[in-house]
Amino acid sequence: MHLPFAQHRVEPEGLATPRRVTVIGDPGQMVVKSTQRSATLWDAPTQTFNDSTRGGAVVADKPTLWLVEPQLEPASCVPEEGTGAYAQLHDYGVGPMRQATIPREYFKMPAEERDARIWELKAQLGSRLTILGHHYQRDEVIQFADFQGDSYGLSKQAAEQTDAEFTLFCGVHFMAESADILGSPNQHVILPNLEAGCSMADMAKAEDVEAAWAELERLGITGVIPITYMNSAASLKAFCGRNGGIVCTSSNATRVYDWAFERGERVFFFPDEHLGRNTAVRKDIPLDAMVVWDPFLPLGGNTEDELKAAKVILWKGYCSVHARFSVEQIEQARMTHPGVNVVVHPECRMEVVQAADFDGSTEFIIDIIRKAPSVTTWGVGTEINLVRRLQSQMPDKTIFCLDPVICPCSTMYRIHPAYMLWAMEHLAAGTIVNEISVDPVTAHAAKISLDRMLSVP
Ligand code: SF4
Repeated sequence: MHLPFAQHRVEPEGLATPRRVTVIGDPGQMVVKSTQRSATLWDAPTQTFNDSTRGGAVVADKPTLWLVEPQLEPASCVPEEGTGAYAQLHDYGVGPMRQATIPREYFKMPAEERDARIWELKAQLGSRLTILGHHYQRDEVIQFADFQGDSYGLSKQAAEQTDAEFTLFCGVHFMAESADILGSPNQHVILPNLEAGCSMADMAKAEDVEAAWAELERLGITGVIPITYMNSAASLKAFCGRNGGIVCTSSNATRVYDWAFERGERVFFFPDEHLGRNTAVRKDIPLDAMVVWDPFLPLGGNTEDELKAAKVILWKGYCSVHARFSVEQIEQARMTHPGVNVVVHPECRMEVVQAADFDGSTEFIIDIIRKAPSVTTWGVGTEINLVRRLQSQMPDKTIFCLDPVICPCSTMYRIHPAYMLWAMEHLAAGTIVNEISVDPVTAHAAKISLDRMLSVP
């Protein structure tokens, strides 16, 4: 087990008033401790760093963070200690791909000039380009989006834009993969920064899931239907396609469980333990009929008898944003704002979902707050960029994030307008950079599990 480590980053020259900060934990995660009261976070060009826990070797180029202007409380984007998840993130490692360093000029450029160039290129590329923005992206990115939505909605949107040759997907890696799988062969999907992965998706590696599956088969455990959350690599969707399984989203997970139990006796759910458990609880499956599969332990940390008795086998994975929310935060919100409505995402832990008034997908959260009467108060358990956007769009309501520590999704945050400009300039010059292309065999099998999901009423 790797313990979190402290890292002093080296400051490159020529960037706005950099200060030395201490980065705790995976340098790809936005974990900043500072004696400054507050700071705006901005991602600078990629940096090569030494990981002192791994023999001091240079391990990767990672985007780093800069403190440029005091505004926010110091942020920490790892789940609270005590959830067992803190060290786990380090065991899995994060980040599926490396991004080539882009010229510094893109980061040095004043925001107004950079944005003006993006707008010009967008006009120049016209209907050949669709820009998609996930709800969790910052406003500086969302302003350019032709469509804004959740992961599945955006992938479908990409596929429907049949005129568009290029899709600039301002989301994370697995979303761009899904867009490529669902799109037509003449469409090119581009992820502006290849290091925009998803720490949850990275927690279930295809080879580990295959190994767990083989163990279950060896034990003679039959009737298992694999379900992968949309937030997973194409290889896992393909695994489900090949093995009678299916994909689910946070909107349709209960209906997908119904589909699965009509066809088998148990469910193997990955990569999000919490969505899997929350959905099973909704289906009245008792907690003692669920086990957690830890890929670092023999038999996932279970006995043979426990596995044979299980109705639901949950992969030990989590979202580093949603795992931060706690029952204590909800209690605090209820004390501070009597009458508050609490709504959380089902990637939150079970006890948090149970302490909330409502739980549902990102679209559900947006919808329920939009439809609520004026002057209502909402404590929200989801990503901060979305919560802030809802705040600014609905000033007649009080909307706040349950987590007092400001914490964006650090992998989504790797999409910066500088990368968008870089990718769009290449497109305008006739070169495609950062294309996400799923190999045809994987794409075919993955589409089977996606199509099964679409067939669920
Ligand atoms: S919010 Fe969570 S699940 Fe979504 S991309 Fe970020 S880490 Fe992944």
